[in-house]
Amino acid sequence: MTQIYNFSAGPAVLPKAVLQRAQAEMLDWHGSGMSVMEMSHRGKEFTAILEKTEADFRQLLAIPANYKVLFLQGGAIAENAMIPLNLLQGKAADYVVTGAWSKRSVDDARAYGDIRVAANAESSGFTHVPAFADWQLNPDAAYVHYCTNETINGVEFVDVPDTHGVPIVADMSSHILSRPIDVSRYGVIYGGAQKNIGPAGLCLVIVREDLLERASPLTPAVFHWKTQAEHQSMINTPPTYSIYIAGLVFEWLLAQGGVAAIEQVNIAKATLLYDYLDQTDFYYNPIEPAYRSRMNIPFRLRDESLNDAFLKAAEARGLLQLKGHRSVGGMRASLYNAMPIEGVQALVNFMQDFANKNQ
Ligand SMILES: *Cc1c(COP(=O)(O)O)cnc(C)c1O
Repeated sequence: MTQIYNFSAGPAVLPKAVLQRAQAEMLDWHGSGMSVMEMSHRGKEFTAILEKTEADFRQLLAIPANYKVLFLQGGAIAENAMIPLNLLQGKAADYVVTGAWSKRSVDDARAYGDIRVAANAESSGFTHVPAFADWQLNPDAAYVHYCTNETINGVEFVDVPDTHGVPIVADMSSHILSRPIDVSRYGVIYGGAQKNIGPAGLCLVIVREDLLERASPLTPAVFHWKTQAEHQSMINTPPTYSIYIAGLVFEWLLAQGGVAAIEQVNIAKATLLYDYLDQTDFYYNPIEPAYRSRMNIPFRLRDESLNDAFLKAAEARGLLQLKGHRSVGGMRASLYNAMPIEGVQALVNFMQDFANKNQ
């Protein structure tokens, strides 16, 4: 097989070592005679997998003991509805809109109560995070919701705002485990697995224990955080194979030195691509430098008539899935943890060649 690099925004590249291990364990997990796909979710083998997966995840993010980790289904979008159901209690909630995903969160939550937009960067084309001082926060809000990394627009939060005790609910789907975070600053953190963790079908939710008491009686049992926390995420059959692969990714990440170590690699990768984008006239990235995402880097050709030729030539060089999201167009390179720096170097080399040929 020729070397390819997969820049998909999600489902996305996984570490090759993880895929090889899954392949080796496919028919017979640890001498059990069974594939993980064939195991009872309540059996001792899968119980061991789930416990190890949670322990490694806690270690990677230094999750404090007063937070529960839930392994849910329905992706991050299901949580858009479950957040108000689990937390709103008839109050209002504040949302900050910094791109397509946080905007979608507002739309999905509106059916459940008084959803207010405390800051919105849409009029500037989603190229920055509004200054915290300009957020119109309601001190009586049930929570403040935002998306810490906008996968489509390429905008990333660096700091955590002071919300004066109002719990922060953060969609970290596309940069969770890419940089250290202080979990204790958040009430709820959630993320779909298919960006930086594993296969689709799994959504991780980290929730502070005291917030488990606020759910509406209308909350479905499979999405009721307290019920799931009391049943080790097994009120129904969890996505067992996705959890197993996530566990292998966590082991791989620990072997890389953990989140602080991978952050250094992620900085090097993103710097390589942004530095090139900033010194060429052929391509550009529109995001204000202070808010540029390390994980998802949208860029455009100044001559958009070359877009198709660019994508075709990239694919011929083994550089896959560089097309930008259909809502914004252009290109996007996602540089998740599993993307080696060699892939980013290959991309920059290709972009230089393409620019030279089409100048
Ligand atoms: C991909 C993504 C989602 C949607 O995830 P689904 O698994 O499709 O529900 C939500 N938020 C962010 C930030 C994402 O990157």
